[in-house]
Amino acid sequence: MVEAPETVLPDAGEHATCGQCGRHSGKRWSFAFGKPVPKGAPGEGIIVKCSRCAIQHRPMVRRSLMVALVVGSLLTLLNQGDILFAGSWKAALYWKIPVTYCVPFCVATYGALSNAHR
Ligand SMILES: [Zn+2]
Repeated sequence: MVEAPETVLPDAGEHATCGQCGRHSGKRWSFAFGKPVPKGAPGEGIIVKCSRCAIQHRPMVRRSLMVALVVGSLLTLLNQGDILFAGSWKAALYWKIPVTYCVPFCVATYGALSNAHR
């Protein structure tokens, strides 16, 4: 049986330095992105970011946008499809449809940040 190697996050103290802007942030407000490296290996592959930089982390934002596109389209079709195909657009659709896309974006982003939280 092969055991999974233990992983060590670099800079695991009370404070972390953002790898992007250099700002110091508390341990609870820092996020680690990337693949964990095996124990003993240098911390390459992981970048620690402060909360400001974390919400702008491009791969996460890109993934959240893709989730929003797919899930938002499905939800719009399920919830508003009959109205859309009938051609009888109501004024409420102009806020309902954008909100339908915002919800999966927020959920995907929250999930990614929760997973990256240190
Ligand atoms: Zn930062």
